[in-house]
Amino acid sequence: MSPHRVVHHHFTVDVEEYFQVSAMEPHVPRSAWDTLPSRVVDSTVRILDLLEAHDTRGTFFTLGWVARRHPDLVRRIAKAGHEVASHGWDHKRVTQLDPEAFRTQARDSRAILEDLSGKPVRGYRAPSFSIVPGLEWALEILAEEGYAYDSSLYPVRRRGYGFPGGGRHVHALPLEAGPLTEVPPLTIRARGFTLPAGGGGTFRQLPLAYTVRAFAAMEAEGMGGGTFYIHPWEVDPGQPRVDGVPLRTRIRHYRGLARTETRLAALLARFRFRPIAETLAAGN
Ligand SMILES: [Zn+2]
Repeated sequence: MSPHRVVHHHFTVDVEEYFQVSAMEPHVPRSAWDTLPSRVVDSTVRILDLLEAHDTRGTFFTLGWVARRHPDLVRRIAKAGHEVASHGWDHKRVTQLDPEAFRTQARDSRAILEDLSGKPVRGYRAPSFSIVPGLEWALEILAEEGYAYDSSLYPVRRRGYGFPGGGRHVHALPLEAGPLTEVPPLTIRARGFTLPAGGGGTFRQLPLAYTVRAFAAMEAEGMGGGTFYIHPWEVDPGQPRVDGVPLRTRIRHYRGLARTETRLAALLARFRFRPIAETLAAGN
């Protein structure tokens, strides 16, 4: 029997409310956020239960906004052995922030998450993967603020997000401020193109086999595991529908919610995952 090296992938969760998704932004003003029914605790716990059932630990990129309102949720995530990382403060995309505001969000979210989890926060993921070409200053700021890795550069060409030409595997970023490791979301190569396969809408709306193929291809490439992401609202078919959302957005946001949990279970049964921080510590 030939020796077989187990590939560890990353299971990540962007911890935010259903109404904080960027697609909902034109329809839900930030000033209304505190008046809407909160769902993030219950839906995140659903994911925690699923991970526990599969004896798997992941990385939870959490908004400072959520941490302040639901401190017990952050404590619970950490206590279950998962890694707590930052998703910024209030889900403003980096394209909407100047360097000073970005630094404040990176610093404040990290402080509250470290305080609640009792562990160092090493990782950051921008809302909607919004560190796009031209905003590399954000990466310098992350390194300056003491982050060890970023998971915002989605190496795909898409309208409104993506970092075309970025590396598809975990890699070191050449920065002036210091070392920062990039942990890009999962992609798959097809006919000369790099296509998104990291999770979210792709995971819910395309056949499960697409995501499975992407993970298997990463394993075959021999450059480490892939990084998968999901949102609590994606396992919450009962979430209140937001008024005034156009049909296109409605389809993208709501389609496939009922089957997400079953699909997650299938992935967890088939592949091995670990927190991103453990991959960095292992050096591969
Ligand atoms: Zn997000």
